[in-house]
Amino acid sequence: MKKNFKLIFILFFLVIFTSFSFAQQQEILPVKLKMISERLYEILGGRGARGGVYIGDNGVLIIDAKMDKKSVGETIEEIKKITDKPKKYLINTHSGGDHINGNQYFSKTITFVAHENCRKEFFHPGRDGTLSDWNKPELMPFLPSITFRDQMNVYLGSKKVELWYFGIGHTTGDVVVYFPEEKTAFLGDQIFLNKPQLIHSYKGGNSFEHVKALTKMLETLDAEKFCSGHSEIIDRKTIMKHIAEMKERQGKVKSLIEKNKTLEEIKNEFKENETSLIEAIYNELKSSL
Ligand SMILES: [Zn+2]
Repeated sequence: MKKNFKLIFILFFLVIFTSFSFAQQQEILPVKLKMISERLYEILGGRGARGGVYIGDNGVLIIDAKMDKKSVGETIEEIKKITDKPKKYLINTHSGGDHINGNQYFSKTITFVAHENCRKEFFHPGRDGTLSDWNKPELMPFLPSITFRDQMNVYLGSKKVELWYFGIGHTTGDVVVYFPEEKTAFLGDQIFLNKPQLIHSYKGGNSFEHVKALTKMLETLDAEKFCSGHSEIIDRKTIMKHIAEMKERQGKVKSLIEKNKTLEEIKNEFKENETSLIEAIYNELKSSL
């Protein structure tokens, strides 16, 4: 009887576990392209962040690389359905694994492009100090081979794609890819909706610089639509709201520090999912005192 009970117990957990992992697998939808214009598409689904595809006169430019072989394979198949032009460039918007790990599953003939700080971050150890995979010699062909500092254009025949750097923020090397004809900008992870902004402090990201970078972007670009790695397409107003909310948080943390509150006490004043952002803001303010 005792044995039966044990068996039922094990079976129960097996069922729970398999249905849980099945549900997790289910969450990864197949890659599909969502049209923004006849030339510009957003890449949805797969494992990794949302990206983009632009069809120029003589070639294709891709924004961000997903993070596994299957998702890259599906991305390539989806691109084949809309064009047979060669895939020429892949822009990594920043060094997050969900944006760069898939580089290695694309063809070596593609030119990988990133901000020069982003290329440095490819080699940055993980949060836990583990060595980056990008030190492996076999991955060298998939590293960004062209980098820039402030601004660079990529021409695909008569079509111009603008790459902009507005400063340190979410990481130290976030690129904005701008398509002037579509008035559409791809921001990577420089904005998160429905959850607090991620700031990679361990790589040198900074929330105060993030606010400055986004403000500079709005002043510089005439963009109306903004695509990002983890949210729906947004407008200028949403970015302004995001900036205002970030400033409000920073102001609140500053005033609590001035009242001699500890980090733990300050965290308690915010929502639970905001704690890592609040800690980043706290450390930034403390180090500037
Ligand atoms: Zn991401």
